[in-house]
Order: sequence, then C-alpha cells, then structure tokens
Amino acid sequence: MRSLLVLLFICCSYSMEAQSVTSKKSSSYKLHYKAILVDTHNDVLTSLTLAGKDISHRLTSGHSDLDRWKEGGVDVQFFSIWTDKTPRRKEGFYHDAIEEIDSLKSLVRRNPDRMVLATNYSQVIKGVHQQKLVCLIGVEGGHMIENDMSKLESLAALGMRYMTLTWNNSTPWASSAMDETAPSFEGGKGELRKGLTDFGKQIVKRMNELGVIVDLSHTGEQTFYDAIATSAKPVLLSHSSVWNICPVFRNVKDDQIKAVAKNGGVICINFYSGFISKEYDQRSTYLNGPGKKLIQDSLFTILKDSANMKTSWQQYYDGEMNKVRPSLAQLVDHIDYIVKLVGDDYVGIGSDYDGVGSVPVGLEDVTTYPKITEELVHRGYTKRSIRKILGGNVLRVMKANFK
Ligand SMILES: [Zn+2]
Repeated sequence: MRSLLVLLFICCSYSMEAQSVTSKKSSSYKLHYKAILVDTHNDVLTSLTLAGKDISHRLTSGHSDLDRWKEGGVDVQFFSIWTDKTPRRKEGFYHDAIEEIDSLKSLVRRNPDRMVLATNYSQVIKGVHQQKLVCLIGVEGGHMIENDMSKLESLAALGMRYMTLTWNNSTPWASSAMDETAPSFEGGKGELRKGLTDFGKQIVKRMNELGVIVDLSHTGEQTFYDAIATSAKPVLLSHSSVWNICPVFRNVKDDQIKAVAKNGGVICINFYSGFISKEYDQRSTYLNGPGKKLIQDSLFTILKDSANMKTSWQQYYDGEMNKVRPSLAQLVDHIDYIVKLVGDDYVGIGSDYDGVGSVPVGLEDVTTYPKITEELVHRGYTKRSIRKILGGNVLRVMKANFK
C-alpha cells in the first residue's frame, strides 16, 4: 500500500511537472519564439571577434554566439562598433570603426544561411521571415567620426544605423553623462560645455537625413535634451536603465523617460548588474574604491606575499560581488517602471551582453531571454504588450528612421 502511494505520488508529481513545462510551452515560450526579439546593444565584436574568436561556433566563453542567439529566440541584433577614448591603432578612431564593421561583414559572409546584414526596414523584416539573425550596425561613440561630417556620411554608407552621440568620453560637440556628472563640471569649472554645440546639432540633423537613429545612451542630460529638441525623428537609448531604481550616471531619470515618450522613441534596458541594482553599485563602488586598499593591505599583512594577496583579493572580490548580483525580477522591475510611468510603447531590450562583467542571476547569456518573457507573463502583461517590449517598439523607431 505504501509503495503504491509512493508510486502514485511520483506519477502525480511527474504529471504536474510535465503540465507545467507544457503550459510554459503553450504560453510564454510559444509567445517568446513567435515574437520578434530585438536587442539593441551587444559588444561581441569588440570582446571576441577582434580577439580572433569565431562566434559561428558555440563557445564556452563570452555571452553570445550564433547557436546561443538562436536558442534565445533573438531575431534582430544591433552589433556595437566601439573603440576606447584612445584608438586601438595609430590610424585613429575612424579606422578602428571600419575594422570592426569589416569583422561583422566577414562574419555574415561566412554564415549566409544564418545571418544577414540589414540596412533598411524591409531587409530587417525579410531576414526575420527567413529565420536568419538580422544584423545591424550601431556605432557607440561620436568620437569615431573624428569631428568630420563626411566620416559620418561614410559610416552611414557602410551600414551604420544608429550612432550613440557620445560614449563615456565627450566629443568637442557633445558632452557625455560621465563628464557632465564629473566634479570638474561643478560651478562651470570644466573646460567642456554641457550639451550639443551648433556642429553637434548639425550632426543630429544629418543623422535624421541619412536614416541613422540618434542614440542617447551615454550622453549627458544636457546633450540628451538638446538632441531630443533637435531630432525630427524618434530617438533610441540603446542600453540604459532607470535612474529612480538605480541612481547611477548612466541611467535615465523620470523626466527623460517622459521626454522619450513624447518624442515617440524607445529606451532599451541594459542588463549590467550595476545599472540594475543600487546595492550592487554601492558594493562595487566601495570595493573598487576605498575598500580595495583597506582589504588588500589586511590580506598582505596576513599572507606576506603579493601574488598570494592578489589571488585572495580576487576570490574575495568575486565572492562579494556575486552575493549582490540582482535577480531577473529586479531587471524586469526596470521594464515595469517605464511601462507604469509612460505606457508600454517606449521600452525595449538592450542587453549590453559581452560588454559587461556581471548580469542578473538567470540571465547568464543570450540563451536566457525567454525567462524575461516568462516573468512578464507571470506579471500579467498581455501578449500585445510583451511583443512591443521584446521588439515591436524598436521596430517602430527603426521604421520611422530608416530610409
Ligand atoms: Zn555602452
């Protein structure tokens, strides 16, 4: 009798489990794979491709590769073209951008059955229907045009479909969020002026004419407001989260969110743990600031060996940061916040995969996007809303901008 009860229990548990998997398949999973998923920011070109890794094959390192994008149900991916505030090569920033664009084009050429480069809206939709990964070029940082309008035009001709006006570094014509919030700007002591110069405004107007989306992630607040007042087209924030939940310089405040909604643009949520969770940011600020020397000195006193101290420090640091990694639900709180503030037309996904060192628990790589859909379903979002958030809103902005 007892064994029969055990058997009955096992069977019931199995059928409950099977039911829950089936219901996942019939609701959120089905919805996820049917929807067009657009991610507006991924740094794999800089982090892996330029380092010689071939993302045509499944990799055990990094966040992204072709197999894993397919598994995650990604349809459209903006590839970030990025170079630091000092160029990689002596030829300069523009050359670095060209090198990265070439690496994407060569990847697409090697995988014609799985990838397609799109430069207009109908190519995007065609590629989605062909079930290929639709690749778009986003240039992250106005410094790559080297203050030269003709280089903006050349990059547009090569396929650039958004340009982030600044990265962390300002250009002579646009101030970045990092610089605008730096203490040197206090009281107008800084050398740079806040916002867009006249040349900066001409760049925004030219981007509108060329069909290049104006991306305002990384820009300072003044540049943000100047650009949004100048742009005749909806803007994008390709990888930014909500300041009111996690008040860091890279996130956007309520008035900015409202301005994007008024403009008809879209804010795509960045997955970086330090932009999602205030606690993570505070711990990271402490351990990369005053805490670092304090703890390293104590470790050295105990271990009396610099190499051992560094290993122990790294273990301690990784362990501490892991403890405060945000949850998937905390990431979805950012989506929720924007929806509650301005509606479901102005939020999307801009993961920053392969550009960030830490992501929320459960979102370890590009295979995990279905969990976001599952969480949205769990929170009572309608299918229509979810389709907008996963990609529909960005597609609208693309259609309004592309020629
Ligand atoms: Zn960035």
